[in-house]
Amino acid sequence: MSQARLTIDLDALARNFRTLAGWAQGAEVAPVLKADAYGLGAAPVARRLTREGARRFYVARLSEGEALRAALGPGPQVLVLDGLTPGDERRMSAASLTPVLLSLAQVDRARAWKGPAVLHVDTGMNRSGLTVGELGDLDLTGLNLRGLLSHLGSAHDPADPRNALQLERLTAAKARLPNLPTSLAASAGAALGPAFRFDQVRPGVSLFGGGPEERPDARLDTVATLTAPVVNVRHVEAGELMGYGSRRRAERPMRLAIVAAGYADGIIRRAGGGGRAWLAGALRPVVLVNMDLSAIEIGAAAVSEGDEAELLGPHVPLDDLAAWAGTVAHEILVRLSPRAERIYLGAA
Ligand SMILES: *Cc1c(COP(=O)(O)O)cnc(C)c1O
Repeated sequence: MSQARLTIDLDALARNFRTLAGWAQGAEVAPVLKADAYGLGAAPVARRLTREGARRFYVARLSEGEALRAALGPGPQVLVLDGLTPGDERRMSAASLTPVLLSLAQVDRARAWKGPAVLHVDTGMNRSGLTVGELGDLDLTGLNLRGLLSHLGSAHDPADPRNALQLERLTAAKARLPNLPTSLAASAGAALGPAFRFDQVRPGVSLFGGGPEERPDARLDTVATLTAPVVNVRHVEAGELMGYGSRRRAERPMRLAIVAAGYADGIIRRAGGGGRAWLAGALRPVVLVNMDLSAIEIGAAAVSEGDEAELLGPHVPLDDLAAWAGTVAHEILVRLSPRAERIYLGAA
């Protein structure tokens, strides 16, 4: 069958979890499994991470929290980054979820609701969370707070002065709530050094192999591999048009391997032109990405129908593919589509 195949290596996920635990040096590692665990399947990913010792998980949406609770059963804490939105109290209680409160309106709602909650304070991203001023004036009566959280905006660049500024603001904010377990770092922050770890780190993308500095990191293993079979080998004469439209004209005679994967399988269209795929033992230029098919230039290499090309994986790192496509590793992962056949390696 000619179909793209997405292999998800749960043993590699477990190794990355342990690597992150090493970076965290005693701080808890609480995986972020929003968007169906970055598209890789929240249930198998969460089950395996639970076996590796994870006890707390973050998701973005209430519905993601409900799905994770159903997969994990009672026990692990499941935190919802969207917080407590109007009318969701009953569902939040029913699934034993912990909202991460991101505004004063949500704080008031949580006070009336009485359930456990974590407070998000904005230290410089200007996106969500109480401002430092709002936190300073906050009336804590009637709140059942379990933690304090903030999020870094520039952690992928260790030299960015915003990191130190956000750290300073969170440290000051913490003085107001000294006994709450505190968390600042996502994947990138966890690699920044001891000052950024606090009580808990919240990695997402690095569990799945994305480097903390948006480039491949040899300490992390490949979790997601996308391969596709060659369905056709073509010779194109110099001057001929390739694919749709009249923009792509072969500058010289070319041999192309056509593989059964395209943007409907999650290969971002922009990665055609500048991108690379692994085929016949080498990295080779990806010339075109169409919906179902992509073209790889193979020169004189021996390639035949049925050979497998790797479009993402150990030879084609997530962060390189992201750079070629003009995006970040997170987006590459969440766009991997259900059309590609999924195979899980290792126990869930
Ligand atoms: C998405 C997210 C994370 C995880 O980020 P990564 O870059 O994938 O490690 C952590 N914290 C919050 C608040 C997030 O929204």
